[in-house]
Amino acid sequence: MSQENDIKIQNFTRFYALVLLKSKESITGYYILKKLKTDLNKNASPTYIYDFLKKLKKRNYIKQTKSLKSKKSAGYQLTSEGKVFVDKIFLRFNNLIEGAIRSNLKVCVGCGITIYDRVHKEKIGEKDLNFCCKYCAQEFKNSV
Ligand SMILES: [Zn+2]
Repeated sequence: MSQENDIKIQNFTRFYALVLLKSKESITGYYILKKLKTDLNKNASPTYIYDFLKKLKKRNYIKQTKSLKSKKSAGYQLTSEGKVFVDKIFLRFNNLIEGAIRSNLKVCVGCGITIYDRVHKEKIGEKDLNFCCKYCAQEFKNSV
C-alpha cells in the first residue's frame, strides 16, 4: 500500500477519534461524538464521523464488533493493521509537536541547559545572549 493513498489525518477531530479507538477495546460512532463534545466541546457532524469510520473499515484498520448490551449498537475495534497505522500517526504528531516546542526553546549560553521558562537576557558585547539565570550570565561575563 502506498503512503499517498493512506487515510489522511488532517484535523484534530480525526486524530481524537483515533485516540479514542486506541483507548478502548471497542467504541461506537456515538461514543466518539459524545467524547468530542464532553472532552473538547466540539460538535462534530455525525456524517463526518461515520464517514471516517467507514474509511477506516474499508482500509481494514477497524472491524465491527457486536455490543454486549444491545444488538443494535455495534462498536468498532482497531485491527492489528489499524494499530500500526495509529502508532504511525501518533509518532508523526509527536515529532511535529516536539519540533514546534523545540524551535521556541532557548539554550543558556552559560551552562547549556534548555530554558523552558523565563529567559534571562543580557547584552554582552553587541549581542543579546540568553541565559537561564543572572548568575549564569554573571559567571559567563567573568569568564569572557
Ligand atoms: Zn545557565
